[in-house]
Amino acid sequence: MNDNNDIRTKEEADGQQTAFDLVKVSEIARHALKDLISSNKPAIPTFYEKSFYNIAGKMGESELVDYLNSSQPSTKQAALMTSGVASIISDLNSELRQYRSGLDSHGGEIENKHQSIKQNVSPEVWKVLEKDLLGLQKANAQMRSQLQTTENRLEKQEKEVVKLQRKSRRDPLTGAMNRLAMEEDLPNEFARNKRYARTFSLVMADIDHFKNINDTYGHSAGDEILKAFVSLMQQTLREVDVIYRYGGEEFLVLLPETDAKGALLAAERLRKAVDSKVLKHRDTPNVKIHVTSSFGVSINNPDDDNHLDIIKRADQALYKAKNNGRNRVESLLK
Ligand code: GH3
Ligand code: MG
Ligand code: MG
Repeated sequence: MNDNNDIRTKEEADGQQTAFDLVKVSEIARHALKDLISSNKPAIPTFYEKSFYNIAGKMGESELVDYLNSSQPSTKQAALMTSGVASIISDLNSELRQYRSGLDSHGGEIENKHQSIKQNVSPEVWKVLEKDLLGLQKANAQMRSQLQTTENRLEKQEKEVVKLQRKSRRDPLTGAMNRLAMEEDLPNEFARNKRYARTFSLVMADIDHFKNINDTYGHSAGDEILKAFVSLMQQTLREVDVIYRYGGEEFLVLLPETDAKGALLAAERLRKAVDSKVLKHRDTPNVKIHVTSSFGVSINNPDDDNHLDIIKRADQALYKAKNNGRNRVESLLK
């Protein structure tokens, strides 16, 4: 989302321009969420999306519906949507809190006035009034309890959305962070390091001859190896280091606050750890599989325009490691 109150995908920013009024979009989103709450459904993407399209259609925003339906929502759009839901839920929560405090003070006022009215009117009038006042108090108490139920439900949904947000950043097979998370994190890491003139490193890691593993032991053994590979890297790296699944059997590791020397050491530690381990397949534990891996190391440098420059160097260094015989660490540094 940008400051101009419109949404535009990256492709559109490059080519034809389609802009939608964000105020309208958030109005639709708000109605969609209310619709879910009133029909007792959780605010998770499947339900939310359906309701969103329905409401948008009813509000005559068919152009927006066509646009959103024209392509499968990318993980990035899905993440945007989830974060939109999270912020709407939090808005609704604060509205509810205001409403509740209004209701509380209203209830208190009725209570206070009760006594003074009784003292100031005749018993006949009071007889009639008391019934109405009691009715009002009862309605007030009912509303308060309904509000409490809605607040509890919203709180639960807020937690669900946060869980979903976290899940949407991970690769389900290996548990490493996914490409989407990488695209979110690396520009920030790049900007922060440039701003404070700090150094960070990237290591591109790739399993050697992985195709052979699949061909020899089967795809599910290949999957097991991928999981074991990530788990081994996690054990070998520091807690602040982040592993992203870059592609099939290729992973990008972010080493914050790490210079070339440190990154080369870390990558060599990874290489050794993988090389020295014999992995067993769950279904055929007597079959022991040995894999090696290659690594390309790069660090940020002041001339870089963006994080892609650093990824590119890590990739070139990995290419060099493959060319130089695999099971090794390379960088483009002298
Ligand atoms: P190199 O040493 O040059 O890296 O050779 P390689 O065989 O590892 O590389 P290549 O890129 O030729 O093959 C990668 C293989 O990884 C092919 C693909 O089927 C496999 N692969 C990609 N993703 C997955 C996955 O999620 N699970 C499994 N089991 N295999 C995968
Ligand atoms: Mg490979
Ligand atoms: Mg590869």
